[in-house]
Amino acid sequence: MITIQGKGVSTGVAAGPLYFYQRASAALSRYEVEDRDGEWQRFKDAQAKAIEQLGVLAEKAREEAGDEAAMLFETHQMMCEDMDYEEAIEGFIKEGGMNAEAAVTDAGEIQAEAFAAMDDDYFKARAADVKDISGRIVGILSGVVQGGIDSDVPVVLASDDLAPSETIQLDKSKILGFVTSGGSGSSHTAILARTIGIPAIIGVGDQLREEYAGREVIVDGGTGAVVIEADEETRARLMKKREELLKRQELLNQLKGQANVSKDGQDIRVYCNIGNPEDVHAVLENDGGGIGLFRSEFLYLNCDDYPTEEYQFEAYKKVLSDMGGKEVVIRTCDIGADKMIEYFELPKEENPALGNRALRICLNRPEMFHTQIRALYRASAYGHLSIMFPMVASVWEVREAKKMCEQVKAELRAEGIPYSDEVDVGIMIETPAAAIISDRLAKEVDFFSIGTNDLTQYTLACDRQNNNLGRFFDAHHPAVLRLIKMACDNAHKEGIWCGICGELGADLELTELFLSMGLDELSVSPRSVLPLRQKVRETDVRVVREKLLGGLASADSRL
Ligand code: PEP
Ligand code: MG
Repeated sequence: MITIQGKGVSTGVAAGPLYFYQRASAALSRYEVEDRDGEWQRFKDAQAKAIEQLGVLAEKAREEAGDEAAMLFETHQMMCEDMDYEEAIEGFIKEGGMNAEAAVTDAGEIQAEAFAAMDDDYFKARAADVKDISGRIVGILSGVVQGGIDSDVPVVLASDDLAPSETIQLDKSKILGFVTSGGSGSSHTAILARTIGIPAIIGVGDQLREEYAGREVIVDGGTGAVVIEADEETRARLMKKREELLKRQELLNQLKGQANVSKDGQDIRVYCNIGNPEDVHAVLENDGGGIGLFRSEFLYLNCDDYPTEEYQFEAYKKVLSDMGGKEVVIRTCDIGADKMIEYFELPKEENPALGNRALRICLNRPEMFHTQIRALYRASAYGHLSIMFPMVASVWEVREAKKMCEQVKAELRAEGIPYSDEVDVGIMIETPAAAIISDRLAKEVDFFSIGTNDLTQYTLACDRQNNNLGRFFDAHHPAVLRLIKMACDNAHKEGIWCGICGELGADLELTELFLSMGLDELSVSPRSVLPLRQKVRETDVRVVREKLLGGLASADSRL
């Protein structure tokens, strides 16, 4: 038995084989084949396997997220057998003597280019689908499976860390838990794990060795322990813990439909954070009251080029209609720093977290911003939309962003395109500057949502991606908590609401303090909704308020 220790960032216990994430190799092999009929058959076999895989994915998607989600995979199945596509591959292999991998890649690129050149946005979007399918078939041919998991059974997924674009493509049904050598509590692997409700352990460093691949591991997301080939006693102990956690989950399910109200009658809204339209399923499943943060940049990460207005409109419309009138706060594109996209062609920066990111990019690229704001307002006709700008530091930025909203509304009116007049516009408080001038900012917007991940990073001058900072990255630091209170008080003075959408919102050690501050909303991963509700319902704010707020304000150095 080997035990390695990391930091648990998503609770739960899972057991299964350890599997190292496979990054598809960029190098494509090209060679001439002699047995052309044999090579054609090799392609046909891979094509059949791809169709079979997509069928399995379609069924899973149907169970987890309904018919519409399944349709994507069914469309991919049909596209695998598209006549033009298949004929091009056949020509490359049988007439050109190309190997199947090269033939599929070239045929896919030609077809994708043809789609991309079309005027219709629907067909333009098919370019990415063709590339996806070709990638899958090439992956099967070369033994590297798209999505990074080539296993018939669910696995505990090991990697250095996963980029946001990689997490999107993972077949989540194959993952029992995560173990990463790097990463941080607010990295996207950790956020994904909490969203889908599986354990995750980060920062195990070089203890994570490839030689452990395929061996049975038990991960405990509560303690951060990864046990390889556990002895009987350890196994029994951890399996018992797993049972208890599952029972607790059952108990929490009983809280579904109950109010988020403290013992003394104080309400707080508990909303959810999501990364893509499919996550709405988890929000509804966990009884989230709304969506407090839709990280729209995931749509950009999912594309090979700037997503069109139509593409974005469809995605926002889907979330808004699936949420059936519940509030959905969509954050405008927050690219840069830890979320880089090649086609943005951002110049290399020494300090990207302090550089050109989020709202700064949007204001510097008005065309791109215009496309997103138009898509958002068009979608507003289908539900209860609020728009939120990230990384604000100054009042002028908010005014300029709001000007774009006014311009778009005027355009839509002139074009006779419906939109809602009830859209609230808010900002994230995630720079110390924004918190400190929150009295002024509160006069400009309808709400604040505090991004504690970045607020901690910028307040403490601690990189959120750097796992070596350990105890220096302290989200409970009084400087961070005082800035939260300052923003909340200033919001209330202007009669607007204030919430938290950073990871701290789900930190049950702080729920009493947040209730005492009078925060109006906490937006958390779907799986955190019910534990948070339980904590709220156990709290008597009258009992804790004075002590907690007094402690925060005091000059006592022990805090
Ligand atoms: C935050 O910074 O707290 C936040 C919610 O935004 P993100 O984690 O996407 O930067
Ligand atoms: Mg942020």
